[in-house]
Amino acid sequence: MLRQAMLAISKSRRAERLVSTSPLTADVVRRYVASDIGAVVGELTRRGLLVSVDHLGEEVTDEAQARAAVATYVSLLDLLPAGADVSVKLTALGLRLSQRLAQGHAATICAAAEGRGVTVTLDAEEHDTIPGLHAVHAALRRDHPEVGVVVQAYLPDSLDRCEKLGGARVRLCKGAYTAPGAYARTADIDRSFVRCLKVLMSGTGYPMVATHDPRLLRIASTLAVLDGRDVTGFEYQMLYGVRPEEQTRLAGLEARMRVYVPYGSDWYAYLMRRLAERPRNLAFFLRSLASR
Ligand code: FAD
Repeated sequence: MLRQAMLAISKSRRAERLVSTSPLTADVVRRYVASDIGAVVGELTRRGLLVSVDHLGEEVTDEAQARAAVATYVSLLDLLPAGADVSVKLTALGLRLSQRLAQGHAATICAAAEGRGVTVTLDAEEHDTIPGLHAVHAALRRDHPEVGVVVQAYLPDSLDRCEKLGGARVRLCKGAYTAPGAYARTADIDRSFVRCLKVLMSGTGYPMVATHDPRLLRIASTLAVLDGRDVTGFEYQMLYGVRPEEQTRLAGLEARMRVYVPYGSDWYAYLMRRLAERPRNLAFFLRSLASR
């Protein structure tokens, strides 16, 4: 119930105005969103962590804004070391205007990234964008085989998706939105996550295991051993500001540990999704407001 309410608030322009213009939210934003992206990337890299950088923004309905997002990603590449990744939302590149437009923009980012030794991963968003996401990903892979895509385990067809994505870089996550017919119970989502993980780990692609869940992390590392993948054959991914000690611990074990780092002023919807995920995050948010 609380999660549904928070996700509804994440789409409310009125709530966005209220929260975004309040100076009281700054502490919470700082916890999950990088304020100086160059400095944060430098610090994480020094600590042996890989990064995937997300320039915040989504649901763009203006062509000029979509073009500006492409330009921002291309200039962001100057700040990133080889081996970094950028996470891209197709709705920020104009998917709501036209699939062709978003695909062209994503291709521009892929071409620029390749020249720098940086990979690109296409985030998964609201359920009605998923067919477009996979169509664009399939088309981009012809010229940019390294482009990755996200699969959300809460969607009942996620297993089928994973089976069809042989050879690809695939980030598996639980799913941060709502979708009709999606698994709602934690146990069902976790079971789906494990089924997908088995397919990805035993397949020919590169699995990116995006979760903070200790049980799923243990299962992932066990499957990797059983499937004969060494530490370079898959990676763990976690969000900036979430379980940072665990991120450091995994990197210390020589595992490939990538931190998803969002930055930029358009943080509202991202932050609301993080608060929706975990009542304790919401309590932290409310406490920090109350303590002012
Ligand atoms: P949860 O069910 O949230 O948590 C499970 C357990 O993890 C908890 O019980 C707790 O033990 C531990 N845990 C979780 N959070 C914390 C915390 N703050 N502190 C301590 N322990 C904690 N979703 C999409 O829909 N599309 C995307 O493209 C997408 N990309 C993502 C990229 C990355 C790198 C990551 C990590 C997530 C991404 N997500 C995306 C979000 C994802 O779908 C989940 O909403 C989010 O990761 C929370 O799920 P979880 O697997 O961490 O488990």
